[in-house]
Amino acid sequence: DCIVHAAVRGVTKRADGKFVLALDDGAAQSFDRVIVATTTRAIQVRMGITDTSNLFAPEVMRAIKETHMVSSSKLFILTRDKFWLRHGLPHNIQTDTLARGIYCLDYAPDDPYAHGVVLISYTWEDDSHKILSLTDKIERCKRLVAEIGAVSPAFAAHLFPLDNDYARNVISHDWLLDPYALGAFKLNHPGEDVHSQALFYQFQTAADPTVDSGIYLAGCCCSFTGGWIEGAVQTAINAASAVIHSLGGTLAEGNPLDAMRSRYRYGD
Ligand SMILES: Cc1cc2nc3c(=O)[nH]c(=O)nc-3n(C[C@H](O)[C@H](O)[C@H](O)COP(=O)(O)OP(=O)(O)OC[C@H]3O[C@@H](n4cnc5c(N)ncnc54)[C@H](O)[C@@H]3O)c2cc1C
Repeated sequence: DCIVHAAVRGVTKRADGKFVLALDDGAAQSFDRVIVATTTRAIQVRMGITDTSNLFAPEVMRAIKETHMVSSSKLFILTRDKFWLRHGLPHNIQTDTLARGIYCLDYAPDDPYAHGVVLISYTWEDDSHKILSLTDKIERCKRLVAEIGAVSPAFAAHLFPLDNDYARNVISHDWLLDPYALGAFKLNHPGEDVHSQALFYQFQTAADPTVDSGIYLAGCCCSFTGGWIEGAVQTAINAASAVIHSLGGTLAEGNPLDAMRSRYRYGD
């Protein structure tokens, strides 16, 4: 077993067919086969894999570079208690203010005195982009609470973190700015299904030794169902099948390499 706690910042294929992974701690490790299961943007921007010509076919490279991803932001407050239950306040608010979606989360339904968690802002695309400039989470939190106050002052009055500790009990995340994601998940623009096809079926290169490069794509971003775990699991199984076959292993009948064919004809 080999578990490495360092980010990959480059993948190159040597003349002997082995892959060398450059790690951000300065080390390098070699492997017989590689499964890449990050977002397409992380593949291009953080690992620079699209700069290497002997890893993927041109249509796969293009799909990695052009696949659209949505952005999303969330801001959570850990509250002293589940105030919405005690005061008969809504558990969910949808607004056209900056906050957009507000969700009360109960992680201890059997304990009425437990802390509460309120996702005070769950935003997508433009609504996420608007709040990106509020880079300080405390400023962002207070700004969003003020917006919620315009809709429901009674609800907003409870929106302060446990112990008034904004540094510890407020968490904010912008997927667009996450260096290991660079976006929330793949969501094709109209006409881009051909990219999903190129990414999804890339693992089937393993079935043909003349085109098998030994590196396979997996993950939500190369599925047909970006944004859902189902596609991540399916593509993980596909890539694992590719590795087994490519290294000379035997796959059970009905495996994704032999039993699945691309029937899409987007270009026709
Ligand atoms: C805001 C949001 C809401 C969602 N809601 C739902 C939902 O309601 N239902 C649902 O089914 N799915 C949902 N999803 C999608 C679900 O989270 C994904 O389908 C799933 O996490 C994808 O799994 P994955 O293994 O493909 O990728 P990830 O879980 O993203 O894992 C990729 C991993 O690669 C790591 N990584 C990136 N770059 C490098 C590098 N250079 N070196 C080493 N490691 C690296 C990342 O840190 C990450 O841990 C949501 C996703 C988001 C962002």
